[in-house]
Amino acid sequence: MQVSTTVKADTEMKAGDSSADTSSGIEFDYQLETLDCHDIPGFAGHELVIACNDAKTGLRAFIAIHNTSLGQALGGCRMWRYASDEEALTDALRLSQGMSYKHAVADTQQGGGKAVIVGDPRRDKSDALFQAFGRFVDSLGGQYVTAEDVGVSVDDMVSVRQQTKHVAGLPTSMGSSGDPSPVTAYGVYCGIQAAVALKQRRPHDVHARLDNVTVAVQGVGNVGYALCRHLHNAGAKLVVTDVHQSNVTRACIEFSATSVDPEAIYDVSADVFAPCALGGTVNSQAVLRLKSAIVAGAANNQLAEPAVAKTLTDRNILYAPDYVINAGGIINISYEKQGYNLDKAMRHTERIGETLTEIFQRANTEGISTAEVADHIAQERLGASTSRP
Ligand code: NAD
Repeated sequence: MQVSTTVKADTEMKAGDSSADTSSGIEFDYQLETLDCHDIPGFAGHELVIACNDAKTGLRAFIAIHNTSLGQALGGCRMWRYASDEEALTDALRLSQGMSYKHAVADTQQGGGKAVIVGDPRRDKSDALFQAFGRFVDSLGGQYVTAEDVGVSVDDMVSVRQQTKHVAGLPTSMGSSGDPSPVTAYGVYCGIQAAVALKQRRPHDVHARLDNVTVAVQGVGNVGYALCRHLHNAGAKLVVTDVHQSNVTRACIEFSATSVDPEAIYDVSADVFAPCALGGTVNSQAVLRLKSAIVAGAANNQLAEPAVAKTLTDRNILYAPDYVINAGGIINISYEKQGYNLDKAMRHTERIGETLTEIFQRANTEGISTAEVADHIAQERLGASTSRP
């Protein structure tokens, strides 16, 4: 292992697990190592972490299973240009713990897991590489179900499917749940409704129209665009921004939105700031510029650092914790295991609003941030004493 001197192979893959297989016409020469990660940043009592090497395709990947006490681990596969194995492994550890928390609060009866592939998604992808990855997923016998994530497409998952049935988020034409973005957007919309209702002191009236509400949407890509449609239909006024002008134009034409430059979005006088672009945009400077009473959007890891949660609380800005409000996508995917049903997935996704109302009220009662309450609920449900890194 070259991850670091603290990571060692406990066991080589068991007999039959390291092999050459030509049944699909593709040769595999793969090796699976179970890792001891106690000294790696991000380790939080993970149940299983494996390194995956496939000499033929150059696959280098890590699969981390954090906690399966609530069900089989389900989480995406990320492909990224990691600078080192340790960086990749740390990411897999943190992301998989995040998935445990997300599933626990969303009540999907799934566990937390994640995979990362080391490589440049624009240069290093191939059908054979993803088939090799699929072999490793399959060797776990269903302990981990994979799906797409940053750098990995639905088409890549179709390659994975050739080697394992433990893959979700495939096209609807394959009987799967398809693009999760519309359901994620619906969950974010339900969360915004709950936050607005609480701010307007009518916490049990979460389905009211949003006629006098202005929402500043940062990023109108897949989720942001679908979110704008819900908000527009509910009567909200929209101010949008995006680094791609065509996305801005589309939102302005279809939803009568006005637009601002990307950097100006933090200064917009709005009721809600909805981060739907990349993570980390709510940083220590941006949080002081916000004029909205609510931060509620789709982006993962919205807060650049944990201290921002306290600043939001101090400024009386209601923050909908990112992994709670953006759980619609994984709720949708989790319905594949019982025969996919969009209607059931949407009804479950609506519960994000109720969950957030509970979190908002508990934060107020306990005098802590909404982010901390969400983590506490996840830890209570996982029955774990672990804390987020
Ligand atoms: P996307 O790439 O389709 O959309 C993101 C948009 O943000 C793009 O249009 C991009 O041009 C824009 N953008 C990037 N940087 C920006 C900046 N600095 N200012 C303004 N706009 C900027 O991605 P998506 O699928 O819509 O996901 C959006 C966010 O939600 C991501 O953080 C993603 O991790 C998170 N998320 C998505 C899903 C899902 O189902 N797609 C689920 C959970 C979380």
